[in-house]
Amino acid sequence: MHGANVPHCGDLRLYARGRRRRSLTPMTIGPQHRLKALRAEIADDLARDEAELAAGPEGRAEDTTQSQHPADVASDLFERESRLTMDRRLRSELDTVDDAMRRVREGTYGTCQGCGRSIPPERLEALPQAVRCVECQRREEHQARI
Ligand SMILES: [Zn+2]
Repeated sequence: MHGANVPHCGDLRLYARGRRRRSLTPMTIGPQHRLKALRAEIADDLARDEAELAAGPEGRAEDTTQSQHPADVASDLFERESRLTMDRRLRSELDTVDDAMRRVREGTYGTCQGCGRSIPPERLEALPQAVRCVECQRREEHQARI
């Protein structure tokens, strides 16, 4: 009988306390380090992507001269197209990370750009470069799609 009402309440309190303590770390020392690491990762991907784009079809054409099938040409084009898309996405990601790093320096990191409320720490942990809360991000993406 005893314990039927206690565990749930206790769990909730523990959970809340754990979350509050964790939120202090990313807000003070966390973001710069994680953003820097993330930036290096993206810059790395971008460099690799651009190197492949530059070497691209000409580099490979020499090996596959006998098979210039329209389908191959099409898939080359498709590959190049998707690399360009990836390239653009990485660039904008890099911009976002730079923006977040600037916000850390200015002390506005963790505040939603849309509504001005603070972005939940668990979102920042999953996505250190987030500049908007989930709701505002969704709204933004919805508008971008129209
Ligand atoms: Zn918001």
